[in-house]
This record gives sequence, structure tokens and C-alpha cells, in this order.
Amino acid sequence: MQSVERTAAEEPTEGRGGEGRGDEEDVLNVAAIVPRTEAEGPGVRFAIWVQGCPMRCKGCCNPEMLQFTPREAIPAETLIERACAAGVEGVSFLGGEPFAQARGLARVAEGVRARGLTVMIFSGFTLAELRERARGDAGASRLLAATDLLVDGRYEASSRTLTRRWIGSRNQVLHFLSARYSEDDPRFTANNQVELRLKGGVLTVNGWPLFGARRRLDGAREGAREGARERGEERDD
Ligand code: SF4
Repeated sequence: MQSVERTAAEEPTEGRGGEGRGDEEDVLNVAAIVPRTEAEGPGVRFAIWVQGCPMRCKGCCNPEMLQFTPREAIPAETLIERACAAGVEGVSFLGGEPFAQARGLARVAEGVRARGLTVMIFSGFTLAELRERARGDAGASRLLAATDLLVDGRYEASSRTLTRRWIGSRNQVLHFLSARYSEDDPRFTANNQVELRLKGGVLTVNGWPLFGARRRLDGAREGAREGARERGEERDD
């Protein structure tokens, strides 16, 4: 699953707080947003990482997004407006597990698709599991129906791969669920990439693969802490 990490609090967006699972009343429990990224699917995309995942893949690159704890409560309609105003090709849903907030994300997916954008989802469930889930879950059914691209399956650290774009382990599959994209699009075989943004003192890192970048980031943080300790300064990061 694609990763995102910040070195300081995300820039504030609407409605901090929210429900633990975030899937009631079409309000999403959002862990992070990157409004314009080229590292989370084809073209420039509005990427949303949701909070909470029922799985515990060893080596998960977003462990801080696994607990179903409140992060940022953002109405689906707000996400639709923000995504459509961002001038992007589509939206990408990551996490966390997008299908754990299927109803709210279905509304977002349907809303942006109605305005010409595409939808890509990174899920820990396999497509077969999602189709089974969709039989008894209207939200999952709607979300699956509104998905153009799906990267499916758990992350398996023992099968890690760096050569398939946007895919973390060899068991995962990129499914083309609509006619909006085709496998011969050269963007699907281009190299993976990592993006770093520094804005207002906040460093945002996203993309794949991130393990190397995360280690370098951790090293930089530790170096900063050591420097602060030597200067007798307090740091809260
Ligand atoms: S499904 Fe994705 S987010 Fe959930 S534990 Fe596995 S890698 Fe992490």
C-alpha cells in the first residue's frame, strides 16, 4: 500500500474530530490528504488516506493509520469539491483501508466521477473478497462500481517488489475495472517515485517505495533531536 508520512501536523482542513470509524453520515475519517500528487496513480491525483484498517500486514508502511481512532472528520461533499477544484485527473483512496469507510468513499467516488475524474483505490482486500463483501454491503458495492483502478491484496513483506509501479508486493494485482484506462498506457510501467514537499515548515513525503526515504527521514529527525538536546532546547516531535 502506498505510504505517506509527515514530520509535523497536517495543515488544518475542515472539521477536526469525527467518528471513530468515520463511515456514518457520509463523513470520512481522514488521516491525510495530498491535493496534487503524481506518485499515487496515473496523472496528477487528489490522494486521500483514510484512518483505520482491520488488517495487520507485517511491514505495513502506514502503521499510524491502522487504528480506528478519530483523525479529521471531513464530509464527503467537501472532499468532492476539493478534489474537483484541484485540477486533477482523478482521486486515489489509500489508507488505512478504504473499504472500511466504503459508504462515504462511494459518495466521493460517485461525485467526482460525475464530474469527469477517475477513481483509483489501494485496498488490502482482494478483488474476490471485495466482490463477496459487496453482496451484503451496499456501500462496498457502490464503491466497487465507481472504481476505475484497484490495487488489491495484503502487503506481503516477503514478496516485496520495487519494479511494479504503485504495487508493494508481488501478490498484489492492478485491476482495470472500467474502460477509462488500458494496460498499454505507458504510465503503468514507468518507474515508481517518491515526492517530498516542504510547505510552512511541514515536510510531507509520499509515494512508493518509501522504506528508504522513511529511514532517512527518521535519521534526520534523530539528528535534529540530538542537536536540540545539545542546545538545551525542548522538542515535541
Ligand atoms: S492492508 Fe494496507 S494499510 Fe492495512 S495493514 Fe495491510 S498494508 Fe497496512
